[in-house]
Amino acid sequence: MFTIGCHLSTSKGYTHMGKEAVSIGGNTFQFFTRNPRGSKAKDIKQSDVDGLLGIMAEHDFPVILAHAPYTLNPCSDKPETREFAWQVMADDLQRMEYTPHNLYNFHPGSHVGQGVETGIGQIADLLNGILTKEQTTTVLLETMAGKGTEIGSTFAELAQILEKVNLQEKMGVCLDTCHIHDGGYDIVNDLDGVLEEFDHVIGLKYLKAIHINDSMNPLGSHKDRHAKIGEGYIGTEAFARIINHPALCHLPFFLETPNELDGYQAEIALLRGLYQQEG
Ligand code: FE
Ligand code: FE
Ligand code: ZN
Repeated sequence: MFTIGCHLSTSKGYTHMGKEAVSIGGNTFQFFTRNPRGSKAKDIKQSDVDGLLGIMAEHDFPVILAHAPYTLNPCSDKPETREFAWQVMADDLQRMEYTPHNLYNFHPGSHVGQGVETGIGQIADLLNGILTKEQTTTVLLETMAGKGTEIGSTFAELAQILEKVNLQEKMGVCLDTCHIHDGGYDIVNDLDGVLEEFDHVIGLKYLKAIHINDSMNPLGSHKDRHAKIGEGYIGTEAFARIINHPALCHLPFFLETPNELDGYQAEIALLRGLYQQEG
């Protein structure tokens, strides 16, 4: 089964997101756990969550993906900024238990001159502080484009974080196609080679989700500007190979392209048309 959806606004609640996902042909979606700027989260209404869980069961959503506020920095040089990331993510993981057995993705952060090694240690410390044996959520490190001092633009950096985490069974990776292309991984001409490297360095068993975005910039540009599917340097043919690759075709795919709902609907239809098992 092809699992495809897009990033949706959280503002109207869980049930609304479920309905919206179905209305554009999706069987999953991504959402921010709170205002992306990281402010206080709204209280969760059980009836609202129940509405979503009903829609997910009825329409065969295998999983949904929550995204942490992108402004958090778990490896800031300011202790109070690291503490804030810790508090928000710990709270998010509690909130995730309203929708058990799903995915929670975050950006590893920017070391802002402290150095990669220090940053990796701080990210692992945070994870070791907030992960619990009881949680049902899998926490994903997102592959990054390598803008500024971002950590996570190489598979090795993500592997080094995972190595330091105690509850590795609660961890995974979300691969963003725009970000890794910007990071210099040639998924257009050597998808097999990139995935072999991922398997060798991190392990494909950790790969739990794909952010499917084209890139406005060429390979290795470290820019992180998403393009619509087929309108960037990755291109539609490469996306056809990506969604059908035996190592990836079973994973959930999430569009974060510059689109309104109708644009997402068109991209979901395009990708469904390219997915071979669905003919
Ligand atoms: Fe992200
Ligand atoms: Fe992403
Ligand atoms: Zn991005």
